[in-house]
Amino acid sequence: MRLLFLGAPGSGKGTQADIFKEKMKLVKLSTGDLLRSEIQKDSPLGKEAKGYMNQGKLVPDEIMIGILENIIAEFEKNGTGYILDGFPRTLPQAEALEKMLNRLHAPLDAALLIDVPEEELLHRLTSRWTCRNCSATPSFPGGKPDNAVCPVCGSHDLYQRDDDKRETILKRFDVYHENTRPLIDYYEKNGLLARISGEGDIDDISRQIEAVIKSL
Ligand SMILES: [Zn+2]
Repeated sequence: MRLLFLGAPGSGKGTQADIFKEKMKLVKLSTGDLLRSEIQKDSPLGKEAKGYMNQGKLVPDEIMIGILENIIAEFEKNGTGYILDGFPRTLPQAEALEKMLNRLHAPLDAALLIDVPEEELLHRLTSRWTCRNCSATPSFPGGKPDNAVCPVCGSHDLYQRDDDKRETILKRFDVYHENTRPLIDYYEKNGLLARISGEGDIDDISRQIEAVIKSL
């Protein structure tokens, strides 16, 4: 099983990827982790990647694809299934990934999009507050009441981090849409896209994903 999960920040994509990784004995391939491990191993690709990072540059897609190819080729030998997490993020990356998987004769089985309306996402993401006393991050989905206290330590000193503020989140959405809309179209056109309604609770969403996977 070769899966890709797509979804906006706050869509619950990471949670679902973790659930299905356990359920189906898949490996979650996070490009950030892979990159770190290549650099630690001091492999040729790791060295190259490090060179870019030391100059404050983004690691080029070809290097990421090279790292993924080594690992996926190994997986294909042992029949290990995987979930791609955090890659591809852009259309050129998706195209490069498809080429690479075709070289391995191991195309993706599905790209699962956890689809949540933007208003709902905004609501979820802006409901998070941070406790100045103990750093807990309680959520107030109905809006924070004036007399709200930290559920962990009881402090009244709750504030909203910049990352959890509406303006910051709207900016993240812009970036997400700019990069991900073309990806969604791409996977729709090649017939791999499965839309999952991400509005229900975690179990609802898992059930929908399970149905899609069974139908593959
Ligand atoms: Zn606290």
